[in-house]
Amino acid sequence: MKLHMQILIALGLGIKRNWHIFSGIILGIIVGILLNKHHVPYAEHILMFMGQVFIRLIQMVVMPLVVSAIIIGITSVGDNEQLGKFGKKMVIYYGIITSAAVAIGAALALFFKPGEGVSHYIMQNAAADVQASVATAMAQQEGHISHMILDFIPNNPFSAFAHGNMVAIIVFVVIFAIALARVGDVNRPLVSFFESVFAATMKITDWIMVLAAPGIFALTASAVSSFGTGIFSSISKYLFVLMIGFAIQLFVVYPLFLKFFSKISAVTLFSAVAEAMMVAFGTASSSATLPLTIACCEKRGISHKICSFVLPLGATLNMDGTALLQVVAVIFLAQAYGVPLDLFFIIEICVLAMIASSTSAGIPGAALITLALILNGMGLSPEQLVAGFAFLFTIERVTDMMRTLLNVTSDTVVAAAIADNEGEINYELFNNPANYEDITS
Ligand code: ASP
Repeated sequence: MKLHMQILIALGLGIKRNWHIFSGIILGIIVGILLNKHHVPYAEHILMFMGQVFIRLIQMVVMPLVVSAIIIGITSVGDNEQLGKFGKKMVIYYGIITSAAVAIGAALALFFKPGEGVSHYIMQNAAADVQASVATAMAQQEGHISHMILDFIPNNPFSAFAHGNMVAIIVFVVIFAIALARVGDVNRPLVSFFESVFAATMKITDWIMVLAAPGIFALTASAVSSFGTGIFSSISKYLFVLMIGFAIQLFVVYPLFLKFFSKISAVTLFSAVAEAMMVAFGTASSSATLPLTIACCEKRGISHKICSFVLPLGATLNMDGTALLQVVAVIFLAQAYGVPLDLFFIIEICVLAMIASSTSAGIPGAALITLALILNGMGLSPEQLVAGFAFLFTIERVTDMMRTLLNVTSDTVVAAAIADNEGEINYELFNNPANYEDITS
């Protein structure tokens, strides 16, 4: 049987196991379409409120979870050599997956030229202005990038915590955890403390997951009701390019990656993490999905050591779906505004998208915020591109749901590959989906 058919069947089985979440998504789409046609402001408010309650509840546990998981992960890996090996592998694997994503996005966007179809909506003087800014900026790039890198280093970790600046928090916590791993036994009280924090936050996650089906129903319905189905035709080519790109990443890149770097079957992995994939789609937030991503991987055989190390870092730094979207979006804008695209320019967009995506917080809508970083690198500001941005915004939430599904899935792909390489996976459990225990019921 063809691989993509097997993957679809595995996802189907995952859906069967989690029919209540899946029904939430389908019902959400139907109710959203109805509400878009016949506005019922009261119902829309209630749905939005329900969705927000669900997202907030999970976001509430994210910070303690990320901090405790990274500290436990790094200190449990223990000796420096093993830590270095895991860390290096993780960076290389995440790098490979994200490079594939940006290459696919660039190739598709250049081939299908989604921006050309909307160029007649753009005023001529706005286009000329954009072209001139890009040309000037090409000469003086470095300043922007060094600034971006400086922002990763928190000058006050507490202010990074207070502002929820995830990349800066991760930089601090990783350095702190490595130091803790190196100081020997005196670290016991602190490590035990974080072990308790982790256990308690996972318990809260179990409780919150009881609300997964209604929460995802509400989120999907309010997203769909806000855009309806009509706008799809005006920007269909852009959406089409994105969907093809996402599908290639999911059905070709991940399976090939797993085949090449591990002996894990993509079909089994997708079945193991189907709940996390659905929740990622429904919430459009990798951070909010993180507790569930960890639960799926751990309860299905990937060791705690790998999960607590690779997944929290992945949920923050590995955003291949986001990078793919950003490359397509920037090329779309360049085409719409008639900016010439040479090879150097395209490579620059790809590199900037890899950096910008990893600085994106795992929350809904983060990609369009960090898109400004890429545009900035090209000497542009979003204000110059309002008309183009308006197009991107119309379908922002749908593309967000899809790219977040990829962001979360690729975290599990990398975690599973490392677990396989390091003998940190219980295959008896992992290879038996029939025996998987329920997570979201
Ligand atoms: N919503 C995405 C995530 O949480 C980030 C983004 O692309 O906006 O992974």
